[in-house]
Amino acid sequence: MPTSRSSSSIWTYLFLLGEPEQQQRFFKELHFISIVTLSFGVASWLVTVALMQHRHALDTQSASLALVGMVAGVTITALGKSLLAIVVSGSASVLFVTYGFQVLIAATDDPSFWVLPLGVLITLTIAPLFSGIAWYLAVSLCVWVMLGWEQFPAHPQQADQYWPMLAVVVSMLIGLSLNVYFLVLRIHNYQAQRELATMAYTDSLTGLNNRRRFTQSARQLHRSALAPAYFLMIDIDDFKQINDEHGHDVGDEVLRKTAEVIAGIAGEHLCGRLGGEEFAVIYQGDKHGACLLATQLIETVEAAFAGERKVSISIGVAELVKGTDLAHSYRRADASLYLAKKNGKNRYELAAS
Ligand code: GH3
Ligand code: MG
Ligand code: MG
Repeated sequence: MPTSRSSSSIWTYLFLLGEPEQQQRFFKELHFISIVTLSFGVASWLVTVALMQHRHALDTQSASLALVGMVAGVTITALGKSLLAIVVSGSASVLFVTYGFQVLIAATDDPSFWVLPLGVLITLTIAPLFSGIAWYLAVSLCVWVMLGWEQFPAHPQQADQYWPMLAVVVSMLIGLSLNVYFLVLRIHNYQAQRELATMAYTDSLTGLNNRRRFTQSARQLHRSALAPAYFLMIDIDDFKQINDEHGHDVGDEVLRKTAEVIAGIAGEHLCGRLGGEEFAVIYQGDKHGACLLATQLIETVEAAFAGERKVSISIGVAELVKGTDLAHSYRRADASLYLAKKNGKNRYELAAS
């Protein structure tokens, strides 16, 4: 039975109704290549017109309409800001290019001769451009209908008159597999990059923000904060002793559990593991709230290990001073942490403001 997850991914493959971040990424990947391919289509059309020997037979009104449509389509695609916008304008452009060539082949001695090569060329060229199988199938079907209208079967009296249909079906299938192949590549590439980004910013042992991510986000908060905020630097007391007495695995478990408590209590406030047995929280609020949070962290960590072993933390608290570098508050929180250790551990100290 299909799950809601698998059915939603079917919709993603059919229409690319993926998450906005994914759509934005695909838009960036497809925007340039769409403009280049469509411009190439318009340029080929202009070159064909220039080289045409029966230009007098050309329906100039229809040719002008096709040219205006093609140029407008490429321009709108170039100005497009979203994946859906370039899919819609790209589809319109492809259909105008097809219409343009239909007008050109109508002016030749044997229009039906050109249907197959043009149809195969267009349906294969546009295969990588459409994110969403349904879009591609709909556009390439329209291409074939436009080109083949009143041209197929070309010679009804011949026994093999339906053979060209084989070329139509095969080229559609090849185009479809190319479209799916590029789509799958893009989806896998997007997922791999997301996983890499998660790995680059997450501490693998505790699942908290790692130092890099914490510092980046803390800097942003520091820059944009209008209300007061506090830096809480947290360090597990006598952690080396836990490692020495119970082994590294138990030490890791203590780190994981402490991280869980910190993340749970910090809630919406930014937190992370700075390295080793050091963690940090940026508390957005006043001094009273920051001290309350520090007390709560100390009590909850101790309670979380009660009955197992003695584990406690010390905390240095410092205000994030506007107009100074984050490193300044970091040093002050570190100095307060040092003081908390010196004053007996399992406590917090607040840096004088
Ligand atoms: P203090 O109370 O003064 O903070 O003393 P401490 O023993 O907690 O601090 P110290 O800096 O002497 O020791 C920290 C230890 O943390 C040393 C290091 O081996 C250990 N450590 C660092 N990272 C990890 C880790 O990922 N897993 C484990 N199990 N231990 C770690
Ligand atoms: Mg330490
Ligand atoms: Mg320590």
